[in-house]
Amino acid sequence: MSLYAVRPKILGFISEDVSAGLVALMVLLVGAILTALLAWSTLNLFHNQLRQRFQLLASERYSRIEERFQDQEQRLDGLRRFFANSDTVSHAEFNGYTQPLLHRTQAYSFAERVSRDQRAAFERRAREEGLSGFTLRELNAAGQLQLAGERDEYVAVLYSQTQSKLGAPLGYDLLAQPLRRATLERADQHQGMAVSQPMHLVNIEPAYARGVLLVAPVMPHSNKGGATGKPFGYVMAVISMRQLLADGLPEAGRDYLSVRILDLSTDEQHEVLFESPNAPAHSDLSTTRLLRLADHDYQVDIRPSEAFLQANHSSVTTLVVLGGLLSVLLSALLYVLVSQRQRALKMVEQRTAELRAREQELRGTHGQLRGVLDAATQVAIIATDLRGVISTFNAGAEQMLGYTAADVVGHMTLENLHLPRELAARSAELSARYGKPVPACHAMLVEGGEEGGHEAREWTLVRGDGSHLIVNMLATPVLDEQGLWVGHLAICIDITERKRVHEALAARDLLLKKLSAHVPGGIYQFKMEFDGRFSVIYASDGIREIYELEPDVLLLNAEAIFTRIHPQDTTRVRASIRASANSLSHWREEYRVQLPQRGLRWVRGEATPEELPGGGVLWHGYISDITDTKRVEEELRALSVTDSLTGIHNRRYFQERLTTEMARVERGGGELSVIMLDIDHFKRINDQYGHAVGDRVLQAVCERIGHRLRRSDVFCRLGGEEFMVLCPDIGGEQAHLLSLELWQSLRSAPIDEVGVVTASFGIASWRPGEGADALLLRADSGVYVAKQEGRDRVQGEMN
Ligand code: GH3
Ligand code: MG
Ligand code: MG
Repeated sequence: MSLYAVRPKILGFISEDVSAGLVALMVLLVGAILTALLAWSTLNLFHNQLRQRFQLLASERYSRIEERFQDQEQRLDGLRRFFANSDTVSHAEFNGYTQPLLHRTQAYSFAERVSRDQRAAFERRAREEGLSGFTLRELNAAGQLQLAGERDEYVAVLYSQTQSKLGAPLGYDLLAQPLRRATLERADQHQGMAVSQPMHLVNIEPAYARGVLLVAPVMPHSNKGGATGKPFGYVMAVISMRQLLADGLPEAGRDYLSVRILDLSTDEQHEVLFESPNAPAHSDLSTTRLLRLADHDYQVDIRPSEAFLQANHSSVTTLVVLGGLLSVLLSALLYVLVSQRQRALKMVEQRTAELRAREQELRGTHGQLRGVLDAATQVAIIATDLRGVISTFNAGAEQMLGYTAADVVGHMTLENLHLPRELAARSAELSARYGKPVPACHAMLVEGGEEGGHEAREWTLVRGDGSHLIVNMLATPVLDEQGLWVGHLAICIDITERKRVHEALAARDLLLKKLSAHVPGGIYQFKMEFDGRFSVIYASDGIREIYELEPDVLLLNAEAIFTRIHPQDTTRVRASIRASANSLSHWREEYRVQLPQRGLRWVRGEATPEELPGGGVLWHGYISDITDTKRVEEELRALSVTDSLTGIHNRRYFQERLTTEMARVERGGGELSVIMLDIDHFKRINDQYGHAVGDRVLQAVCERIGHRLRRSDVFCRLGGEEFMVLCPDIGGEQAHLLSLELWQSLRSAPIDEVGVVTASFGIASWRPGEGADALLLRADSGVYVAKQEGRDRVQGEMN
């Protein structure tokens, strides 16, 4: 199954490529929409329920009001019938009848129609019945009852049963007041109950004073009122709307409804007859109904109060908050889940890729390893398990030991391949070292604790055919991934040939050592790298004496040689080595070495260069001490240039020096003078004193002149009694002065046995372009002229 097939979706439905933020946003959006829908439907439901509840409450309230209205009508009608059916109703009877009716009614009264003529008799009758001070009264402008004026007709309150503490307005003439009169007239017209417009009730406590008067005409039982057909009196219920409607209701704060009753009797202005003390709440809920009391319609408006709304508050806000919170939580959860899942998937993908790469690598490595094992035909690679049983036996091992892998793997141990006596010896050695027995089968695996640790060790292995093979074996533990020991790996290299070569080389070394010990000086191999660095490859013991340096030191640091070479010779030696390297010409150099113990010595080195493939040069050569030879040479040389009689330089030396000095001035200019002198009449001395005395004179002259000369002057005997002084760096004038000095020194004092000896001097100073012969000729000419002119003088320089 491809990886793609199992990972296109997260949580079963979300594509893994979608960003976690987008998913969270979507969920939040969906959550918000769902919450809004839920809130909307809840709100709708709530409003419906609220409306229903309100309607229920309102209709209950309407029923109650209507019931009370009807109750009022029925009770008044009862009272009317009580009067209608009785011939006379006494005060006591009235009180007895109405007393139980005083419920939600301020007062019940009976007013009797009285004509102007009957007034006095009526007042009297009333007073007789116990109503002392009874008179007909009417309201004055101040709203107080006063004696009623003279009118044709009165309808005066005769009996009254009231709840008011203000007492009953007995004698009050209803006709005196227009509203009451109109009500009575309407009752008359209908022959039935009529209700007044709202009015201020007389003798009713102010809190209940606003109300209506419900009036029912009492028709005479047997036409007592005469032919007028008018009722003989009226029974009335004084109704305070407040008492009627508010009585029995919960207190204002807890009443769910706010009721308002409008009086519709006057078209132009609808008076508010009653209004609940609790204000209506702001709501679109309201209901209006017309209720009838007697001949009047009242508009009853009912609206919900704050208490109602509070008791029926909506749970939408909570729902929205909860829904919102839930959406946020869900989207956060999804965000975390999706992003975590995405991260996890990414990690899985990455890890899978890594593992795949690792697997490829392992495959490659395994292949390489197999290849290496098979290709390593010169190396035996043998792996064993912990028991020593061979598990890998490569081609090299097969070739080296003469077994096939099939013969060995799983059948033989590493111990089987070893020479038993060698293992036993090693085992004993290791046991002694560690103080505990080391079995032979482990002897080749246990580290000997020798310096260097895991060092390869020489072992003798037994081939398949029984012959022996000397190998260098390195045995190391094999660890698995957890670092646990799972076996051993032995790598063996056949060193038979190497050993043979090694021994042959050792023999050669010994030979060389012995031979070089008999050779004066030292022999060496000296190498110059392509970059100019020197190194000593080989140095025999003889080198130690030459440089007073250990051969080993030279092998490490060839430059040490140059610390021994005399500073004046170092540059020359280096230059000659490089010249030899450049031209691959035989190197031969004689130079001085300054040795710590033997001091200054002369040595001679000779070597033959050969070019190395890498660009360097290798010399094979020898160095010998030639100090003695040098000394003999020096002595011979000195002798060859010294005059044996006088000890000063001879003609040869003069010639050499003259050539050198001439070369110098010709090359770089400068000055050079020669002074030639010839002893005067020397033949006579010989003749007179003998040849031996002549010889002594010659020695004495040389000594005297030699004293006067500078170190740089070269004093030579040219032959017989002729001498030459070579003066480098001085000109003709100075040479002349020197000549005079020499001349004086000779003639100023006698020489033993022979007395004063004189000489004739000739001078020549070098002129540019002049050759040696011309120079000498001019000096010689000077001597000649001096002789000619009488001897014992210095002749000035000749042209
Ligand atoms: P002048 O130069 O003044 O003309 O006279 P002279 O006598 O010095 O002349 P001349 O050059 O002819 O003589 C040189 C003599 O010096 C000749 C020779 O016998 C002598 N003589 C040469 N070599 C030696 C020597 O080694 N020892 C001695 N005793 N005499 C020598
Ligand atoms: Mg002479
Ligand atoms: Mg002479």
